[in-house]
Amino acid sequence: MAKISINLSTGNLEKAPESDVIVGIDLGTTNSLVAYMREGEAVAVADDSGKNTLVPSVVHFADSEQIIVGTEAKKYLLTDPQNTIYSVKRLMGKSYKDVAAAEQYLGYEVIDEDTDSLVKIRVRDRFYSPVELSAKILAELKKRIEATLGQSVSKAVITVPAYFNDAQRQATRDAGKIAGLDVLRIVNEPTAASLAYGIGLSQDESKTIAVYDLGGGTFDISILQIQGGIFEVLSTNGDTFLGGDDFDRAIIDFWLKENNIDPQILTENKALSQELRIAAEQAKKTLSTDNQYTERVGEWTCEITKAQFESLISSLINKTLDSCKQALNDAKLAVENIDTVIMVGGSTRVPLVKQTVSEFFKETVNDMLNPDEVVALGAAIQADILAGNNKDLLLIDITPLSLGIETMGGLMDTIIPRNTKVPAKAGRQYTTSIDGQKNLQVAVYQGERDLVSDNRKLGEFILRGIPPMPAGIPKIDIQFILDADGILTVRARELRSELEQSIQVKSAYGISEEEMARMLLDSIQNAESDMKIRALLEARNEANNIILSADKFLTQNTAILSEEEISETKKLTDMLRQSVEGQDKDAINVAMDNLNKYTTPLAHRAMDVNIGEAIKGKKL
Ligand code: AMP
Repeated sequence: MAKISINLSTGNLEKAPESDVIVGIDLGTTNSLVAYMREGEAVAVADDSGKNTLVPSVVHFADSEQIIVGTEAKKYLLTDPQNTIYSVKRLMGKSYKDVAAAEQYLGYEVIDEDTDSLVKIRVRDRFYSPVELSAKILAELKKRIEATLGQSVSKAVITVPAYFNDAQRQATRDAGKIAGLDVLRIVNEPTAASLAYGIGLSQDESKTIAVYDLGGGTFDISILQIQGGIFEVLSTNGDTFLGGDDFDRAIIDFWLKENNIDPQILTENKALSQELRIAAEQAKKTLSTDNQYTERVGEWTCEITKAQFESLISSLINKTLDSCKQALNDAKLAVENIDTVIMVGGSTRVPLVKQTVSEFFKETVNDMLNPDEVVALGAAIQADILAGNNKDLLLIDITPLSLGIETMGGLMDTIIPRNTKVPAKAGRQYTTSIDGQKNLQVAVYQGERDLVSDNRKLGEFILRGIPPMPAGIPKIDIQFILDADGILTVRARELRSELEQSIQVKSAYGISEEEMARMLLDSIQNAESDMKIRALLEARNEANNIILSADKFLTQNTAILSEEEISETKKLTDMLRQSVEGQDKDAINVAMDNLNKYTTPLAHRAMDVNIGEAIKGKKL
């Protein structure tokens, strides 16, 4: 195990790299920002004007293949929504099945042929993963801090919501890697907010805190227990579609009513709708300090008082309290057990929000820091601790390289990511790819590259004797258990038959620190090309599955398909087969999309017929 850091520009290992800044990044749904420690104090980095620290998490693809990120990109949300991607954080590490319900809120095309695989976003004829898009935002933040500091920056701490699962955390790490950042730690947003207020910084502190985070579009409440510098998330709750945007909408509805305007006008007149939205947000912000707001929009006078605004939003705020109650319940705590309440997110500037939350928790809330910046500031403080600059906090033992197994096409599937605290335990479920498959080879690797052939093999074994089942049916659970001495136990278990097999390997055996540094440097330098290879191999795997299903579908449903439908399906399947032979993942994705769009209605028809037959008592 290691308590070391690696200088990526030289490949050398260093104890405490004083000169090498580690930045803290809040990669948000609506806005992102980067912060660092300047003379012992966390500061957020502003743009050229020196005023705006927030970078809107928006990526716009201009016609000329040019990619624009941030404030400039946001301008295209209305004029060119299909090519302007926002809220990509909502899609991180998610499959199409997970996001189908949210798709109606997005102005761009989210697709996947296979509901279980990770989503892609289609922009014209190119397909992007949420990881790639997040990497563009991170790259923009990297550029910003490098311009401010006048030196290159390669290490970061990135925050994620406390409820992010392993896949979402790994996706965030991958985005960092593609942006050329070595992600030293993924930190929970509420933990970062707490650190920003100096809570949890000393070893002898013991506290239970609530972090109330109300942003533009999302609400999160997290209950954390802090003991000896360790943060434990006791519970989280929230609403992924509740925030300041709803306050704005309530004001617009109020104005429409006051002026007797037909709401239909908003769908017909986009420019007016946009003007009203901007005025509503302005009104809301004004009412955080003043008692009254008046403005002319077109031919109307848009007026609202603080009292009117408060009556509009009180039910929305009460909804957040329901989540708070649920979170307390889940943590088996009462309001009285909460020692400190921390406010995060721009919408906590609304006085009624502060007042209501404060009354609920019977506690004065912490709101001294800028609620938009507090998470990034805390991330910078965490980064400083990792750099060894905060002598009071111990660095915990971590695993220096990622551990994982080989999956389809020779890809590395990381199970324990590098920099995970040890001891650690993690696992994932796999299945077979061939009908009647009896054996499954489990090859264990160490390293950061996407292809296992570029990583270091630690060992392998074969799980033999899986009972014959169709491909995709067996559930094989693979567990990685890493103890404090770096001994890794890998266990594979087929859940139906309880068949089990395991090995033990020494993860740090026979590898020098220089070699580790080299591997890390290689992974950052090759991140872009690795990502491309991974995307191609994944597209091929997915396409091969779809070809198999299409062939099966044709043989099973000949009777209910017309000749033309059969020949068209065959043609589209052949085109997909051809594209799989090539090197262009976008061509594969287009071919998959075409086949899928053509066969979906046919599949629905087949299902209806089959169900009909079953009802009539016939065999399926
Ligand atoms: P965030 O997602 O944390 O960046 O929060 C952005 C939300 O905070 C948006 O809905 C903003 O309109 C809102 N916001 C920003 N400043 C204020 C303010 N002074 N008063 C009320 N809401 C604000």
